[in-house]
Amino acid sequence: MQDSTNPLVNTQVAFQDACRALGLPDAVYQILKEPRRVLEAHLLVRRDDGTTATFPAWRSHHNNARGPYKGGIRFHPGVDQNEVKALSMWMTLKCAVIGIPMGGAKAGVMVDPSSLSPRELEALSREFIREFASFIGVDRDVPAPDVNTNSQVMAWMMDEYGRMNDDADIFGIFTGKPIPLGGSAERTEATGEGVAVVTRRAMDRVGLAPAGARVAVQGYGNVGAQTARFLAARGVRVAAVSDVGGGLWQPEGLDLDALDDWVARHGTVGGFPGGTAMTNRELLTADVDVLVPAALENQITRDIAGEVRARLVVEAANGPSTPEAQEILFARGVQTVPDIVANPGGVYVSYLEWVQNRGGAYWSRSEISARLEQAMTAAFDQVWALGAEQAVDLRRAAYRLAVQRVAEAMHLRGWY
Ligand code: GLU
Repeated sequence: MQDSTNPLVNTQVAFQDACRALGLPDAVYQILKEPRRVLEAHLLVRRDDGTTATFPAWRSHHNNARGPYKGGIRFHPGVDQNEVKALSMWMTLKCAVIGIPMGGAKAGVMVDPSSLSPRELEALSREFIREFASFIGVDRDVPAPDVNTNSQVMAWMMDEYGRMNDDADIFGIFTGKPIPLGGSAERTEATGEGVAVVTRRAMDRVGLAPAGARVAVQGYGNVGAQTARFLAARGVRVAAVSDVGGGLWQPEGLDLDALDDWVARHGTVGGFPGGTAMTNRELLTADVDVLVPAALENQITRDIAGEVRARLVVEAANGPSTPEAQEILFARGVQTVPDIVANPGGVYVSYLEWVQNRGGAYWSRSEISARLEQAMTAAFDQVWALGAEQAVDLRRAAYRLAVQRVAEAMHLRGWY
């Protein structure tokens, strides 16, 4: 039997389950099961060799009942329209769970950014904004970084938008910007920092003491690396990490400073001398207490779920487990903190960036961290309490909490 790996269909099933459990009229599911609109474009880039390349791109507006559409822009060769739609739905849910007045959106460009020169990457980023400018706006739709995009990409996009619009409202339209361009303290760290806050909270709930506990982190991009760093600072041993270039195992805990130096020089964790090599499957089924998938979708499948040895899985990535794997983990008593509860730290600090841009006053790192910790803890505790009260797993509880909040806003607007 194959796993269900279409993230759009999987999310529709989860929405339907939540709507039924909440006793909501069918109209709510009908509104939520597809985005409000999706814009497709083919981005045109002149290559350095003078030839022209085109790249398919989508921006999905899922729901804005609670506030402006919000969500990142992903550059990845595997992106397709279904994935972008699902990712925009998860943004709606995340914003509702973490309690910010924003809705759900996402963009994806089907491109392998490692095949582009820096000039071509800039050209692609600017072309994206030329195509999608009419879709975005400070009270309409606020983009941010996602997989393979970063603050530099946001800077180019903001600049391009400014050139097209007499620099009107440009600072609050993008979040995840560089600090000198209106970015927020702690935004780069925020997703991983929030994952670490929730992981520690969940460890307490399942009775795992941090001292001596071991974590494996799949994916060592921004989110994975920051999660590892914040967990290590909280006393957890980071025993395994991996990225596309390989995996590493060091049961006593990896030396993260040395590892980060290695990654800065080699572009991958693979080959780092401070650990032994391990495969992706070995990492996912390693002898650890906590497993943090921080890469892409559908990594924990049914055949892996049966072998996961961790007591706790914390989904730093969006959609890292299939529904079949989720049921197996649940049946085996492995507690899973779902993506929409584990990783909204990024969008939460994006919201704080947007607030700071609109108010023109900026907060310190420690102020942002304190707000982030408070928001993540409150959201986790609410979901945990709801799960206990309704005797369901944390994913079902989180979907119910989020759908209830979105449905209430839609009702107040008169959508049903
Ligand atoms: N791309 C991030 C996410 O998936 C952040 C989105 C944002 O800050 O708008 O949550």
